[in-house]
Amino acid sequence: MTVKTRAAEIGVEGIGKDFGTFTALDDISLTIGRGEFLTLLGPSGSGKTTFLMLLAGFEEATRGRMTLDGRDMTRVPAEKRGFGMVFQGYALFPHMSAAANIAFPLKVQKRGAREIKARTEQIIEMVGLAGHGHKRPDALSGGQQQRVALARALACEPPVMLLDEPFSALDKNLRGQMQDEVRRLHRETGTTFVFVTHDQSEALALSSRVAIFEQGRLQQIAPPREVYDRPHSRFVAEFLGDINLLPLSDTSRDGDMLRGTFAGRTLRAPGKAGGETLAIRPEYMRLGLTAPSSGNAIPATVTDLTYLGADTRIDLRGPDGMALVMTHASGSLPDGLAPGTDIWATWPEEKGFLL
Ligand code: ATP
Repeated sequence: MTVKTRAAEIGVEGIGKDFGTFTALDDISLTIGRGEFLTLLGPSGSGKTTFLMLLAGFEEATRGRMTLDGRDMTRVPAEKRGFGMVFQGYALFPHMSAAANIAFPLKVQKRGAREIKARTEQIIEMVGLAGHGHKRPDALSGGQQQRVALARALACEPPVMLLDEPFSALDKNLRGQMQDEVRRLHRETGTTFVFVTHDQSEALALSSRVAIFEQGRLQQIAPPREVYDRPHSRFVAEFLGDINLLPLSDTSRDGDMLRGTFAGRTLRAPGKAGGETLAIRPEYMRLGLTAPSSGNAIPATVTDLTYLGADTRIDLRGPDGMALVMTHASGSLPDGLAPGTDIWATWPEEKGFLL
């Protein structure tokens, strides 16, 4: 059973939020498209929750303007926005059954009894809780409680769903299941989702775009693959995962590439002038036992091997003692590879980028 909602577009223009003399958010401008799944990602204290609270209407902006489908909503109170919310600590009513929790917002809206019953049943089925509606929250598992919270938020067909780290208390497997569930609910309802997390892999897995915050500023907003493979800054590159950073000297243009020297080797990466540090993710580095005839390559010595299951992490000491890291499929590691083995770290030129 699917329940389509009317998704809305959110506009944010020059929003800022001060707490006394402290600026928690500074000059944020972005558009959240109708039906988009936007994830707000950033370290602790970067302003993600404050931004979500401004969208919800629980905090008031110090500066700037917000719109909903083009209409000003900057000063519209939370209860008039009609958004669905799943927050940490935004608990279920313990004395009510799951079904009564889900029906609650519909009752507040004074919908008819028949409609409330039909809609509650529909939503219970949609979130996979058929047969559990009569249970109180303490008789439900952690994952089931989160499903009730999602169902309650979706009950009124919200134009926007706001979720703040809803799964942080769940174990890893359950968290994965709930991520799949949220993705499915987003697809089925078609509504606009804004999701806060500080888990990089959760952000990359769920979102149509990721907005990366640092110290109250929006650093980059782009689809997951773009923020990961083409970060605009060193902060974004490092925040999203391990990365090797190789400072180039004697750089020059070479068609669409920049060519430079690192430890006496010529390396190339897509891009023009500007950044002169070549960045390459560990999973794009390959292991060679002999010097390759072309492409980017640097000599290195294995310092450590860490078995991670499907992949093995290989720590390396590169030229000038620089620490490097690559990952390699565990099933195809060369025989005898061990700390002390001299290798070549190679990678396709187009996989690197300049910072
Ligand atoms: P986390 O991942 O830890 O939840 P966050 O990115 O969501 O972090 P926010 O909760 O938005 O960060 O906080 C941003 C900054 O604003 C922090 O430095 C925080 O201390 C500050 N802040 C938030 N709310 C208030 C408040 N009511 N009064 C004063 N400072 C606040």
